[in-house]
Parts: sequence; C-alpha cells; structure tokens
Amino acid sequence: MNAHNILNADLHCHSVVSDGTLTPEALAERASRGGVELWALTDHDEIGGQKRAAAAASSQGMGYLTGTEISVTFAGETVHIVGLGFDPDNESLRLGLQATRGGRSQRAQEMADGLAKVGISGAYEGALKFVGNPDLVSRTHFARFLVEVGVCKDTNEVFRKYLTEGKPGFVPHRWATLKNAVGWITEAGGVAVIAHPARYKFTPNEEYALFTEFKLHGGRAVEVVTGSHSAQEALKYADMAKEFSLAASRGSDFHSPDESHTDLGTLPYLPGGLIPVWELLQERIQ
Ligand code: AMP
Ligand code: MN
Ligand code: MN
Ligand code: MN
Repeated sequence: MNAHNILNADLHCHSVVSDGTLTPEALAERASRGGVELWALTDHDEIGGQKRAAAAASSQGMGYLTGTEISVTFAGETVHIVGLGFDPDNESLRLGLQATRGGRSQRAQEMADGLAKVGISGAYEGALKFVGNPDLVSRTHFARFLVEVGVCKDTNEVFRKYLTEGKPGFVPHRWATLKNAVGWITEAGGVAVIAHPARYKFTPNEEYALFTEFKLHGGRAVEVVTGSHSAQEALKYADMAKEFSLAASRGSDFHSPDESHTDLGTLPYLPGGLIPVWELLQERIQ
C-alpha cells in the first residue's frame, strides 16, 4: 500500500516578508512544534525570506521546499498560484515577482483615499506600521490598522465591510497573467499549484477554464487540503485533481497566531488515491 499521502507537509504560509506576523525563523519553530515534516514558506509575490526559511527548517530538522504565492488576474478575479521547489536565484522568476509587486504602493495610496472618503483618515501611514517589507503592502496590513483603531473587531470584519469588491477601501488591480506566473515557476524548475480553489467566485465554466488553461501553461498541482477548505471542498478538489491529472498539495495558509484559525501542521492528511505534490519534487527537498 502506497502511503506517501501520509506526510505532515505544510506547503503554504506567510511571514513578515509578506502579510504574516511571524519571522521565517519563528514560523519554522512553530511548524516543527506542530509536527510538520516538510515545510514551505510561500510569501505573496516575494521570495526574500527563502534563504532564512530554508536555514531555519534545517536547524529544526525539517524538510524544506522553496515557495511563493503569486497574485494572478484571471477572468476578472484574483487567483493565487503557489510555486514550490523552484531555484530562488532564477532570473525570470525574480524579475516576474518584482514586476508583480510593482503596483502595490500606488494601490495602497488609492485604498487609503477610498477609506478617507468614508471618514477613516491616515490609513496609508497606519497600514505601513504593520508592514515588514515596504515592497509588499497588502490589504491585510490595512485590516490590522482598522482593527487597531477600533473601526472593526477583527480582520475578517474589515475585509467584509471595507476591503472587498464594491467596498470603500477596495481598489481593482491587475496582477500577473496565469501564463506568466505558471511559466516563471516552471522555468525555475518548480511546480505551479492552484491555491485554495474553493475561495474563488467562479461559475463552473470559469473554474473549468482556470483548470484547463493552468494545465495548458504547464501547471501540475492543486491545493486539496488547505485552511481555506471545508472537508467537503477538499473532497471536491480531490476529484478535480483526478479529473485534471493534477498532483495534490496540502497547506495551512497560516498568517498569524491571532488571526489564523488553522495552525501549522494541524490539517488532515491528503485523501488517498492522489499523487502528493512532494512526489514530483523529491529531488528539490532541502
Ligand atoms: P492583497 O494581496 O493585498 O489583495 O491581500 C490579500 C490577502 O488578504 C490574502 O492573502 C489574505 O491574507 C487576506 N484576505 C483576503 N480576504 C480575506 C478575508 N475575507 N478575511 C481575512 N483576510 C483576508
Ligand atoms: Mn495573505
Ligand atoms: Mn491566497
Ligand atoms: Mn496564502
């Protein structure tokens, strides 16, 4: 019986290098304490934490795969594509991520303008206080500021009332194309993974198009078990993985002890009958 699906792999989480609140070292320690055997740090549009994460994983005796989570615009929606096991020194990946980060400061100023119109002033400067990487100001940092000043009780409420489509602090943004994001990861020797597919507001036709085009561009895996999926959604995407011959990934999407409901290493194992993404990446594990 092949039991390669029985591995405590956590291949999706965020540090202060993007919108998490812990350092790569603190995350590695937490992952190890949570029983994680194979770990990846997947900061949004950024690989600046990779060397620290790999070193910290090694000192915890944990396997490590390089990681990132690229913001993509597909069919008018933001889709996230995780990359795993790539060469972090690859030039086209580095330049692609740099370009993807590029519009964030301007977008943040516009978000603050939108919030000022509904009486919330100083949001740009306020969000910046929570930013660990000036290149990567995200909606999450605005959410933390709005909680701090008492506008909302938690970050979920901020997203619901202020930071999602149609709300005062939402600014439409064009991220990378699906083709480019998958291409950068693949050219750098990594595997591209559709992150938390149940989170997108696609019609069945649009979802089919996402999976079809993702495969066409060289994508090879999908997150099945993630902190963003219910048990039922995990089963749905296990079926999708089989239908599209994609490998399956597993990751908490942990951001912060105060905000994340799924801690590192606590997810159920991958369901049987799937090819785990780490099977494709055996020689890339550090
Ligand atoms: P951005 O890349 O700036 O658009 O920010 C996206 C990030 O916001 C995601 O990676 C999540 O960490 C966070 N996020 C998105 N939606 C929500 C939500 N409803 N509640 C809490 N955090 C959210
Ligand atoms: Mn995030
Ligand atoms: Mn995501
Ligand atoms: Mn994420």
